[in-house]
Amino acid sequence: MKKNKIVVVGGGYAGIKVIQKLAKNPHNEIILLDKNPYHYMQTEVYELIANEEDFAQVTLDLFTYCMGFKNNNVTFYKQEVKNIDFTNRKIITTVDRISYDYLVLSVGARTKFATNVEGLREYAYGIKALHRAMYFKQKFEMSLFKKVDESGTSCKPLSIVIAGAGLSGVEIAAQMASFAKEFYKNNNFLCRKLNIVLVNAAEKILRGMDDILVDKSIKRLVDLGVVIKNKQKVVALTKNSVTLSSGENIFMDFMIFAGGIEPNGLIYELDLQKNERGFLQIKPTLQVLEYERVFAVGDCASLYDKESNILAPTADIAEQMGELCADNISLDQKGEKLQEHNIKSRGILIALGRRYATAKVFGVYINGYFAYVMKKMIEKIYAIQLDRHSCVGCKY
Ligand SMILES: Cc1cc2nc3c(=O)[nH]c(=O)nc-3n(C[C@H](O)[C@H](O)[C@H](O)COP(=O)(O)OP(=O)(O)OC[C@H]3O[C@@H](n4cnc5c(N)ncnc54)[C@H](O)[C@@H]3O)c2cc1C
Repeated sequence: MKKNKIVVVGGGYAGIKVIQKLAKNPHNEIILLDKNPYHYMQTEVYELIANEEDFAQVTLDLFTYCMGFKNNNVTFYKQEVKNIDFTNRKIITTVDRISYDYLVLSVGARTKFATNVEGLREYAYGIKALHRAMYFKQKFEMSLFKKVDESGTSCKPLSIVIAGAGLSGVEIAAQMASFAKEFYKNNNFLCRKLNIVLVNAAEKILRGMDDILVDKSIKRLVDLGVVIKNKQKVVALTKNSVTLSSGENIFMDFMIFAGGIEPNGLIYELDLQKNERGFLQIKPTLQVLEYERVFAVGDCASLYDKESNILAPTADIAEQMGELCADNISLDQKGEKLQEHNIKSRGILIALGRRYATAKVFGVYINGYFAYVMKKMIEKIYAIQLDRHSCVGCKY
């Protein structure tokens, strides 16, 4: 029997789920392409920055992971996809041209560094890519060390600005504030000043999220000493200052930009229909509008609910899209009708500093240490399952 060649571009939360399901069928030959050799668990970045986890704990080797499938039908190539010839079903990578029967696009998104903000690209740190998060983590640690080193001679506060108060901006602000608080306290340093300013364009942080979770998060941030500046945008940056739309100038040691995402370079190249923000338009079956055998899942595509509201791009949604995409490819292989999505957020868990979180899971609110343990458990179960699988691959 001829094997079906399925190529998955992007081994993030969505791509991994597609592979997990489709690899169960020995008649599928699956190729995973990713520009990085690892799967990056972005939902755990807050722990990486606070030194609670190292980079090995937030990554998974894609080579060994793909070697761990019992049907031996998944191959990983570390290659960046540059374009796709849909007419001839050929994927053009930096080094090769690869054919496919089915194609899954799961390339995620990237930080949107607005080009009209002077100095933004030059002086702000992003956290969506691992190398950027690592660079920023080291900068944070070095800045703390510098303050300790200066103790007794000067006591200038460490000033950090975070632009963007979505899930990632809020989590990072809370984690850094509570980490620094504990760090200074544990070591009885004389000089303990840390300023964290969270700049938010909307009226309230965490726009579009549940009001109770928003209020809990605001209270926690304020308790941790984070200053929230609502209805403000960053308009310009220099090495040590940020100018806001109100005209205010804030001194900073460094700034993190978490002000939004945009499609990555590949999506811009593809001759497929996109929405006004540049993300791929897909059918409720997760196929792109133009080709029956091309699917798009995760952050690179916009998913709408029945009321035409866009679903927030999260790992939870990306994983559910990945699972449905795999099911639909299997249905299509059998010549059966594809399923339309009924994907909803299963819950939201917001880490708010060390050992504290706020959450709404299947409609139930949870706060504090218990919510933190729950978030950690979900992340750990996810990581352990992947790790066990790649341990099998390690043996080859
Ligand atoms: C700091 C932070 C905290 C977050 N916290 C949460 C949270 O608590 N809960 C939650 O649900 N979500 C959270 N998210 C959002 C979540 O991480 C994303 O929604 C999720 O990663 C999307 O998954 P994906 O598979 O679409 O893309 P990704 O996980 O980004 O994976 C995309 C993959 O495609 C690869 N790729 C890209 N371009 C190419 C190319 N041209 N060729 C080959 N490979 C390519 C990349 O290397 C990457 O491996 C957070 C995000 C951030 C940044």
